[in-house]
Amino acid sequence: MTKKNVLYIKNLNKIYSKNSSKSVNALNNLNLEVNEGEIFGLLGPNGAGKSTFINILAGTTIKTSGKVNVWGFDLDINPRQVRASIGIVPQEVNIDPFFNPRDILELQAGMYGIKKKDRITDTILKLVSLESQAKSYSRALSGGMKRRLLVAKALVHKPPIIILDEPTAGVDVELRKNLWNNVKQLNKQGVTVILTTHYLNEAEEMCDRIGILSKGNLVALDTTKNLLKKIQTKIVKFSVEKKVDIKDNSLKSLKILSNEISELTVSFEKSSLNISEIINFINNQNIKISDISTDDGDLEDVFLRLTKN
Ligand code: ADP
Ligand code: MG
Repeated sequence: MTKKNVLYIKNLNKIYSKNSSKSVNALNNLNLEVNEGEIFGLLGPNGAGKSTFINILAGTTIKTSGKVNVWGFDLDINPRQVRASIGIVPQEVNIDPFFNPRDILELQAGMYGIKKKDRITDTILKLVSLESQAKSYSRALSGGMKRRLLVAKALVHKPPIIILDEPTAGVDVELRKNLWNNVKQLNKQGVTVILTTHYLNEAEEMCDRIGILSKGNLVALDTTKNLLKKIQTKIVKFSVEKKVDIKDNSLKSLKILSNEISELTVSFEKSSLNISEIINFINNQNIKISDISTDDGDLEDVFLRLTKN
């Protein structure tokens, strides 16, 4: 079954220009599609353009150019339908401290024009585990609870897509887990999830696909599985007493990065080759190895490599 395209972004640009001399290209010809039912993660260091992207979808930032289509609605033609199709969990906590969670959700539902009988306030409170706090002042809620309340707020109009902008920044590990469980639960019920984070392990665990933004450019876009495969490549440097007779594919998946008199640098796939086989190969030429340094990759490495410069 082909999945519906819930988000379609074509050549999206955003230039912030405060004055004519200083302008920031926050998004540079962004092209992106998100499919129905997936959890899509947008990763990138601070200033990469993540919030800009999300604020454009939310309608709080105006794009400079390009096409944005959400749930089949063009942002330029049907901005209201676009907004109705998404629930946004913003990066900043913006909750009135003197209202309780129930009132906040009721108010939000009112803002969307949802009739009393159609409201799902209790269901949502339960989903984000705030039933017992339904009537507590919001200012009495913990940081994690406030975050969950923001998620709840984004759900009152039952949007098919929920977008979370760094929802776990500054939230402790336990509550982070709790929040992500809520999000996974939502996703199981069919809600498409788009999130930004700079916690790579979270993205790794949560997301079906990942896009990496760097200075407004999309530098990677792939399934989490494929991105992780890329980091199966290991790089090892051997200090040797003389030049080793070795070439690409002398051993399975081996690539020679440099081969000097005193130093050999190779890369290989961890799934195909073990470092001890390379050591044996070198030793079989009666060459002593005086030092070995390895570079064990993880998502952090791919991320750094892609977002550098
Ligand atoms: P991220 O959310 O990935 O940290 P942002 O989208 O907030 O990144 O910012 C992207 C770039 O746009 C940054 O260089 C930031 O300084 C700039 N920027 C963001 N908002 C504004 C604004 N309102 N006016 C001018 N520049 C902005
Ligand atoms: Mg941001």
